[in-house]
Amino acid sequence: MSLSGKVALITGGSRGIGRAIALALAGQGARVAICHHADPAAQETIAAINAVSGGIAVEADVSDEAQVRALFDAAEAQFGAVDILINNAGILYESPLVETEAADFDRVIAVNLRGSFLCAREIVRRGNAGRIINIASDLGILGREDMVAYTASKGGIIALTRTLARELAPDVLVNAIAPGSIETDMTSPATMSAEQIAKDLDTPLARFGQPEEIASMAVYLAGPESGFITGQCFGVNGGSVMH
Ligand code: NAP
Repeated sequence: MSLSGKVALITGGSRGIGRAIALALAGQGARVAICHHADPAAQETIAAINAVSGGIAVEADVSDEAQVRALFDAAEAQFGAVDILINNAGILYESPLVETEAADFDRVIAVNLRGSFLCAREIVRRGNAGRIINIASDLGILGREDMVAYTASKGGIIALTRTLARELAPDVLVNAIAPGSIETDMTSPATMSAEQIAKDLDTPLARFGQPEEIASMAVYLAGPESGFITGQCFGVNGGSVMH
């Protein structure tokens, strides 16, 4: 088990991609703290984690500085210092530019980008960080009409990744995963318009990815076999972006 003895903190780990990452890291022996905003699914996720390793769920808004500190306090109290941070919590907001209120833009940037900054700063301030993995998006590279706040936040996460990789080397390795369209609540018709879903699926592989297909990349980037990799952004995207 490649992550035995490690402690991982996954923001937004109650469902979707974060849940799959939490379970995959636990499957490699890591003890896992997840945070969520207000998700009743969190306890079910913790039960699944506890079946293979150890886990706790903490309610915390990643955009709030004090709540981020309390989140790390809770993880440390349970498991000791956090080694691996997965900045995964995120929200989507679909709206044409001219109809996007400044408050909506600020809210998306606060959760997606400020939250990643706050959690990265917190783990490094506490001095035990080994790996930081930021969940960006292929849309942070491609752009997407009617998603100005979301795409800006995700482009920002890619820049944050590169800066932190330089600033924290050689002690902390910092990488990003930029998923394509993954089948979660975020890409369900309740959250995303039919037009956007159709655009998402217009890729060479022409299907949704599964959360577990992101989790396997996260396990690799958290583990000992990726020790010479930092500052990279990995597309797990069905071919939506090709460099
Ligand atoms: P999801 O199913 O909607 O889950 C989002 C998670 O983030 C939930 O656990 C949610 O908890 C948590 N969260 C939201 N706001 C939060 C806040 N303020 N503080 C703490 N936690 C918060 O989304 P997903 O599809 O798994 O997406 C996970 C990440 O992957 C996001 O960053 C997303 O942008 C990125 N991504 C997703 C896709 C995709 O196609 N699904 C593609 C590219 C990138 P609550 O429910 O308790 O609020």
